[in-house]
Amino acid sequence: MTGKIMKGIGGFYYVYVENAGLYECRAKGIFRNKKMKPNVGDMVDIDVISEEEKTGNLVVIHPRKNQLIRPMVANVDQALVIFAVHEPEPNFQLLNRFLIMMEKQEIPVVICFNKMDLASDAEREQLLLDYENSGCHVLFSSAQEGEGIPELKSLLRGKTTVMAGPSGVGKSSTLNSISEGKQMETGAVSEKIKRGRHTTRHSELIYLGEDTYLMDTPGFSSLYLMDIDKEDLRFYFPEFGAYENQCRFNGCSHIHEPGCAVKEALAEGRISRMRYEDYCYLYEELASARKW
Ligand code: GDP
Ligand code: ZN
Repeated sequence: MTGKIMKGIGGFYYVYVENAGLYECRAKGIFRNKKMKPNVGDMVDIDVISEEEKTGNLVVIHPRKNQLIRPMVANVDQALVIFAVHEPEPNFQLLNRFLIMMEKQEIPVVICFNKMDLASDAEREQLLLDYENSGCHVLFSSAQEGEGIPELKSLLRGKTTVMAGPSGVGKSSTLNSISEGKQMETGAVSEKIKRGRHTTRHSELIYLGEDTYLMDTPGFSSLYLMDIDKEDLRFYFPEFGAYENQCRFNGCSHIHEPGCAVKEALAEGRISRMRYEDYCYLYEELASARKW
């Protein structure tokens, strides 16, 4: 049988097999020799030991599409980042850093601005202008009023998504809304997983429906810019891409060079000032960063 690793803990891997359920599996020695450690998100083949007790052996790990380090999860199709339009006020620097990290790992991002019931039309319009060219899919929701939830559901369908966002923005409320009617299935899965729970926090996938998985990641605590040269930073702002070859100077940093097409686009309102200013700020930060 083929399934997906939902959680790994204390040498056990919890593998969810569509239409069959959750199996508690052990990985046999074969993986140790191959230097391939089973990961949450892996598609695996298992041999069932006991159908009654739902136990099995993990025998094959399918090739990975990709692998995130923080959180540790394989085969991620996209990231969902949730911010509130208000309460708490969005920290755009944090959001932009997150987008850079995802862009670097080539993970597509859906930005969900929740609590849209607290925003004016003008505020909403501004958020759209700031992020519509950032390469992300932008979505507004109100978990409280159920708005935007059907659209969000359809964006998640058939994919494995990591969800992130500061606390208080409505992640739990959103998760509740999208998993409504799924309690039976997800409840059974998490019930079994709970029995193997330790005190430390481990990453865990939630089953939301056919081929649809979500991982709730704890905050942004580990977010910092790794391994980016300031000269490369501009490539992680997709909205600059259209102007890249139009600047007077090759390798223009878009900061103080004359004849810069990005600054021209900025002056004409085709590039978000907020995004551009954050780019300049991060550029300075990387320029003065200690080299490790
Ligand atoms: P989390 O920390 O990200 O999981 O956020 P919660 O889901 O716990 O929500 C934090 C607070 O925001 C709670 O008081 C929710 O009732 C409230 N909240 C969640 N979604 C909305 C929304 O769409 N609109 C408004 N006005 N409040 C919301
Ligand atoms: Zn330029």
